[in-house]
Amino acid sequence: MTKRHTDGATDWARVARQLGLKPNAIQRRHFLGLVVAAATASCAGPASDDHEMDTASPDPGPLPDVPLPELTSDPFTLGVASGDPLDDSVILWTRLAPKPLEGGGMPTESAPVLWEVAADPAMTQVVQAGYVLAHPELAHSVHVDAQGLEPDTWYWYRFTIGNYVSPVGRTRTLPTADASVGELKIAAAACQAWKDGYYTAYHHLAQEDVDVVFFLGDYIYESGAGGPVRDHNSNTVYSLDEYRNRYGLYKEDLDLQAAHARFPWVVTWDDHEVANNYAGDVADQSSPIDFLSRRANAYQAYYEHMPIRVLPPDGPDLGLYRAFRFGDLATFYVLDGRQYRSDQPCGDKTGDPACEEMKDPTQQMLGEGQEAWLLNGLGKSQTVWNVLAQQTVMTNVDFGGAFLNFDQWDGYPVARQRLINFLNENAIDNVVALTGDIHSYGVGTINEIVTDTDSPVRLTEFVVSSITSTAYALNQLQDFIEYAIATMPQVLFFDVTKRGYVRCTITPDMWRTELRSVDSVLEPTSDIQTIASFELDRASTDSGPIQIDDA
Ligand code: FE
Ligand code: CA
Repeated sequence: MTKRHTDGATDWARVARQLGLKPNAIQRRHFLGLVVAAATASCAGPASDDHEMDTASPDPGPLPDVPLPELTSDPFTLGVASGDPLDDSVILWTRLAPKPLEGGGMPTESAPVLWEVAADPAMTQVVQAGYVLAHPELAHSVHVDAQGLEPDTWYWYRFTIGNYVSPVGRTRTLPTADASVGELKIAAAACQAWKDGYYTAYHHLAQEDVDVVFFLGDYIYESGAGGPVRDHNSNTVYSLDEYRNRYGLYKEDLDLQAAHARFPWVVTWDDHEVANNYAGDVADQSSPIDFLSRRANAYQAYYEHMPIRVLPPDGPDLGLYRAFRFGDLATFYVLDGRQYRSDQPCGDKTGDPACEEMKDPTQQMLGEGQEAWLLNGLGKSQTVWNVLAQQTVMTNVDFGGAFLNFDQWDGYPVARQRLINFLNENAIDNVVALTGDIHSYGVGTINEIVTDTDSPVRLTEFVVSSITSTAYALNQLQDFIEYAIATMPQVLFFDVTKRGYVRCTITPDMWRTELRSVDSVLEPTSDIQTIASFELDRASTDSGPIQIDDA
């Protein structure tokens, strides 16, 4: 195997190229944790072009010249994770936190962590290794950019500090951009309110045969409310320490850890990583600190706990939107529909009629910069499928002029039609949206003229339900939903009562989505069923997906 010089730090120019951004779109900033170089993986012999495994393990280099902290209990309580793969690298994550509900429990010094990537689950064939410093400024989290990997390949990884060794995680690189990909298998999930139930869905997700997991928002909930089977660890969170402890609570869950350890994840956020229904810099509720300070705390804790290939936050700003290309088969645009959006219109009350504000041409869902980036990417894309991995429902759910939810794209009809117009004008007919937020399974279509269901289908949407989070006012919604299915041709499926995730099998000819639902989140374990399956034929996307009988 050819080993490249690798130092565990992020080469932003290379990242920008692979993400299809202009190199200057990502400015490398000096920041602890990203630019502190881990040691070099040395070549055991002359570099060769064949892909035979070296027999000697790479040398991780000298231990950084900082003292090992005194640890009296396991610091790997939050497991390991990987994410944001490229064709030659992947981000590896862990956080040293012996006491994850009490600020982490680490000394205030930086701590040296050994990371290793191997070609086998027993970690006997290590292909890359190095040291990284875990800094107190980032809650002793680490983000290692493990480079020099082969494309389209499973790897295993782990971390070590002193006598403590983390669990072994499994991860996978992307195929190269020019690779011909016959099949891609993914799962998509969202909304994992810990207090609302057990992560029975993650127990099953960890056993799925998929290449990557997409997470579409509401990884934590900020609320202090108790739940039916387990309670949040504190009142509503505002400070950095409170957000960190909330992530500690969630990430201590072993089913969630198993799902992270089994696959690379590609994550985005929605509102509850900060606060319910916030929009850009506008809060939905009052808080004891000003909203942008709260957002800065929340974004920093998010960065610290996610295996993401992005710069750390700069105060209340964190650039999260990015794209991933799976050879010639699919490009995933991972969107941020929170940070740059306009405030929800019309007072944002469920069931209210449309108002003049909804016609405001300056309204934004993605913000001008992200929208331009997305349209540019879609316009240039050469892949068979283009996928929007995003937060809120795009399908029009208009009840004779009254709206279910002004927080979703229904509240931003000008921005939505602008996106659809771009697809229309450029004859782009290969876009699928994967959506979270509403704690319901849904399958919908967006027409060329969004409000005219006689116009051809331009985009298909799969809404992934929630891992645990319960649906709003479930009983009141039931009638409403039956009405929707019966009267709205653009709504093909809608179920607020079930929890779980979706599994998608993507080929050049067909997109298949299976809705995988657990029987219960109120028991620690549960069975799982496929409650419905849909197929979208690439040759006839303008007629939308069809439900298939796979019982
Ligand atoms: Fe949610
Ligand atoms: Ca949400």
